[in-house]
Order: sequence, then C-alpha cells, then structure tokens
Amino acid sequence: MERTFLAIKPDGVQRALVGEIIRRLETKGFTLVGLKLVNVSRELAEQHYGVHKERPFFPSLVDFITSGPVVAMVWEGEGVIASARKLIGATNPLNAEPGTIRGDLGINVGRNLIHGSDAPETATYEIGLWFKDEELVSWQPTITPWLH
Ligand code: ADP
Ligand code: MG
Repeated sequence: MERTFLAIKPDGVQRALVGEIIRRLETKGFTLVGLKLVNVSRELAEQHYGVHKERPFFPSLVDFITSGPVVAMVWEGEGVIASARKLIGATNPLNAEPGTIRGDLGINVGRNLIHGSDAPETATYEIGLWFKDEELVSWQPTITPWLH
C-alpha cells in the first residue's frame, strides 16, 4: 500500500494546528502509520530539503524548520501521495485553494504549515530519512474497512 511522508512544520505546532491538520487526513480516510515530535537537526533539514540547496531561500528554510518541534508522520492509503498534496494545497498559501490546509490556514510561503512528499521516490527517501522501520506500525481499520 502506498505511503507518504508528511510533516507539520514549526508554525503549525506553534499555532496549535496539529489536531486540525491530522483531523483532515484522518477524516479523509488515510491511515496513520508513523508519528513523532522531532527537534530537527540542521543535518536532517539539509538532507530533507537537499533539492533546494541552491535556492536563495534555502538558508532561511533550514533556519525555520530547525526553529521548533516538527510533527513527523507517515500516512498510508491508495493514492495517498497525490491526494495528500491536494489536501495540503499550493506552496504559497495565498494561491492555495480554499478547502486546502494551506488555503484555509496560512498566508506566508515560508510558513506554510505542512510538508508533503511530491512523488513515490521522494516519499521513499523521506520516510527512510525520518523514520526507522520499527517506528512504523502496519495496521488496518477493522471497524469500517468498507469506508476505505
Ligand atoms: P512544497 O512544500 O509545496 O513541496 P517546494 O518543495 O517548492 O514546496 O519548497 C519547499 C519549501 O520551501 C516550501 O514548502 C516553502 O516552505 C519553502 N519555499 C518555497 N518557495 C519559497 C519562496 N519563494 N520563498 C520562501 N520559501 C519558499
Ligand atoms: Mg516540495
């Protein structure tokens, strides 16, 4: 089953939006298989955002993501990578559609609340970077499996 890496950034934690953000993914029907609060090291931040290292905003992005706790998560479900990106919305919250996490809750491109893997290869890389295998819990909803 497909998995994606999502992380609630320091602004989401500081603004007490952890529950709100998790609720949106849970009620959509995806399955949470990994969850932890992380004080991100510069090394982890630089590896996670390695593709952006030549961008002008890279140093401030690393400063920001290491500025406070981040909620690191792995979510599972059919089509979860693309669907989570839809639920998250466009990178710049000012352009993100209402109904999306960024569209409803944010206004600042640097503080856009949540990260989501953008493709199967990046999901595999990011899950491996943030989680050990034994930190991931495989389970299936048994009460309403027909909902999913
Ligand atoms: P996304 O998070 O939507 O996948 P990107 O991978 O393009 O977006 O960028 C990674 C993160 O870098 C963004 O979520 C945002 O926090 C930050 N970022 C992107 N573009 C800018 C920018 N022009 N100015 C400041 N920060 C930016
Ligand atoms: Mg990205």
